[in-house]
Amino acid sequence: MVSLDPSGIYEELGASPVINAIGSLTLLGGSTPPTEVKVAMEAAESAYVPMTELQERAGEYIANLTNVPAAYVTSGAGSALTLVTAALMAGDDDSKIQQLPDTTGIKNEILIQRRRRYWYDRCLELAGAKLVEFGSDGKTTPSDLERAIGPNTIAVHCFVQEESVDEYSLSLEQTLKVASSARLPVTVDAAGQIYPLENIGKYVRMGADFQCVATKYIGAPQSTGLALGSKDLIAKLALQSFASYEGRKVRGVGRPQKLDRQEIIGAVAAVKRWFSLNHEERLDNAELRSKIIISLLQGIPGVDASLITNVVGHNAFGVKLKVDSAVTGINHDYIVNSLKQANPPIWTRVREGEEFIDLHVYGLAEGQEVIVGEAISNLFI
Ligand SMILES: *Cc1c(COP(=O)(O)O)cnc(C)c1O
Repeated sequence: MVSLDPSGIYEELGASPVINAIGSLTLLGGSTPPTEVKVAMEAAESAYVPMTELQERAGEYIANLTNVPAAYVTSGAGSALTLVTAALMAGDDDSKIQQLPDTTGIKNEILIQRRRRYWYDRCLELAGAKLVEFGSDGKTTPSDLERAIGPNTIAVHCFVQEESVDEYSLSLEQTLKVASSARLPVTVDAAGQIYPLENIGKYVRMGADFQCVATKYIGAPQSTGLALGSKDLIAKLALQSFASYEGRKVRGVGRPQKLDRQEIIGAVAAVKRWFSLNHEERLDNAELRSKIIISLLQGIPGVDASLITNVVGHNAFGVKLKVDSAVTGINHDYIVNSLKQANPPIWTRVREGEEFIDLHVYGLAEGQEVIVGEAISNLFI
């Protein structure tokens, strides 16, 4: 029987705690809620509360802070994507709500740009919707979208990433223009667009009917996310939730995407903190810690460690590590794998399509930037 000693809670189970030099990563746990969030979550345990009412009040509070008509806390941004598709398909028709994910007789096609397919678009299909691509691998035009609209189209989905805009994609502005002439709703995945602050809600203010936010990026428990949008669509999304399943006795697809009251309060507290945080200080700190890593990697032949200066989105600052294997005798994969074998293991990565290791400090506890920099530097001795 494990006693679960808090000082070695993972080791006692035989699980290995790691140093996270990647950033917010679901695979490693996503976030470490700061004190304000933890205190609020613990206070939530002081009583039970009707979850439907808590969801409504939390949504109003967040809508107010983010300057959108309506908001809803979901089980991650992934669940926000699933619930919004269910809402678009079933509306407020209880029989359709209970029929999904069987879409017989229900319009279920969501248009998505071929160039903007992405890892999380699978979440849009879970409730029974079908993704239909428009455009090609080349430049996407407004007429590509116009041509793709058909009798079963229920929405156009747009994945927004302001830190790396793809000029060959149809922009959100262009998407909104075509969609509004066709009277089609637009859903936006802006999960990572948590800075500048105005981006949290901006796409809804621009005319989208929905945007999701991943609160793992702002220090909420990673099991939470936000759906922001029009009053009408968010009210329909709420009908799909676990709270509605229990509260209204209408069995929607959202039942397994449950949240605890502590988590809902945690998401509220994290949003509140994020909107009152000194972001210059946050960014200065990320820059400073990134530079500490860089300073530990200076002067090693074949090793180029430079500062990533981006502050937009969730990956503020960071280190771009490029290693010339012809000079050093070791390549990026070797470095990533060796660091994982270290004690404690250090997780880093080369992102798909990139040719460098990118390090971020979001998941590093105080002082771990030194451990990371030294461990990498030691690989070249
Ligand atoms: C992380 C992420 C998601 C999924 O969010 P969860 O809260 O982990 O479900 C969706 N879209 C984008 C762009 C993300 O970065």
